[in-house]
Amino acid sequence: MSNKFDLLLAGAGHAHLGVLRLWAGDKPPGGRIGLISPDQHAWYSGMLPGLLTGRYKTDQCRIDLQPLCQAAGIEFISSAVTSLQPEANLLHLDTGETLQSEWISLNLGSLPRPPESEDAGMELLPVKPFSSFISRWEQWQKKPQRLAILGGGAAGVELALALARTVPSLALFSAANILAGHAPALRGAAIRHLHQLGVELHERCPVDRILGGALISKGEIVWRGVRLILTTGASPLGWLCESGLSCNEQGFIQVSPTLQSVSHPQIFAAGDCANLVDTPRNGVYAVRQGPVLAANLASALKGELFTNYVPQRIALALLSDGEGGAMMSWAGFIAEGSFIGKWKDYLDRRFMTRHRASKQ
Ligand SMILES: Cc1cc2nc3c(=O)[nH]c(=O)nc-3n(C[C@H](O)[C@H](O)[C@H](O)COP(=O)(O)OP(=O)(O)OC[C@H]3O[C@@H](n4cnc5c(N)ncnc54)[C@H](O)[C@@H]3O)c2cc1C
Repeated sequence: MSNKFDLLLAGAGHAHLGVLRLWAGDKPPGGRIGLISPDQHAWYSGMLPGLLTGRYKTDQCRIDLQPLCQAAGIEFISSAVTSLQPEANLLHLDTGETLQSEWISLNLGSLPRPPESEDAGMELLPVKPFSSFISRWEQWQKKPQRLAILGGGAAGVELALALARTVPSLALFSAANILAGHAPALRGAAIRHLHQLGVELHERCPVDRILGGALISKGEIVWRGVRLILTTGASPLGWLCESGLSCNEQGFIQVSPTLQSVSHPQIFAAGDCANLVDTPRNGVYAVRQGPVLAANLASALKGELFTNYVPQRIALALLSDGEGGAMMSWAGFIAEGSFIGKWKDYLDRRFMTRHRASKQ
């Protein structure tokens, strides 16, 4: 079969899921389109804490991509992209294949950034990719040990609350205050829950180095152990920065409001891997980019005009408390408890139902 496509979607992130959902429910735009993903499932981060506490089963938290692609008229390509040549519109895959496409859309997420590590005294477990995280976590749980989590954003806090009861002791390290950028009252509620579960909280404690079985902050040992989960802030995929696409100083792809690369307009990027003004890197914004991306990719294929993505000014934060409840903040309004947990559960399940092909 030819290696030429009209459009290639690289990565099954939240924005591409929105594209697939819309094209599966309506007429796809036409042309030869492929989705490249190393995992046959797309995982939903919002349900990961519930999966870890046993509230959900694995298949409730992930979407089978093959039937969704089929419903959207898209070829599923089971591979990882290893490099990109934007001038020639080429994507190189880990299978050794090279694909060419007139239009390319990147929704590849980001990876947690590990601190410098001097020798192999500690096992590091990045929270992404989720499939490897979950299988390794299951291995770890055969013999639970004390645990540290690095990263005090929403992901680190939710994981600490979900895992606190499953290990002999758990320490959470945050370079700044936890949940920086969220409403202060949400931080207050999270700290209360962390204390109730006995989590040892280290705020404003940047871990710069791992030395054998110790975490070092500002030249001092702050924790000893052998198991560390990384939920540190988003860092870009190395090969993207090296591709020649225009990136910001951290290495995220600079895009215009139409979600096109500012240097290579035939390449779109959305979600965590893109850099756009007033757009934080989280799932809520990635999901909202989906419909604009779907419209613009269809316009690209049909030679029509593009529309702009306008980030919402206020975003809902909903964090599970690890015990079936949840904490929420929206426009400075805070609420928590089991009722909010039920609402979060309803929203998460609805997201999954909407994005599954009907036969799944
Ligand atoms: C535990 C946890 C809880 C979170 N909770 C929330 C929350 O409640 N609300 C919120 O807004 N955000 C939350 N986040 C953040 C959120 O998960 C991310 O910001 C969001 O997933 C980013 O979406 P994305 O579309 O950019 O990419 P992702 O959803 O991360 O998807 C990236 C995709 O790219 C694929 N990929 C990666 N490399 C390659 C490659 N080389 N070739 C091909 N495909 C590749 C991956 O397989 C994956 O399918 C949470 C994160 C974690 C870890």
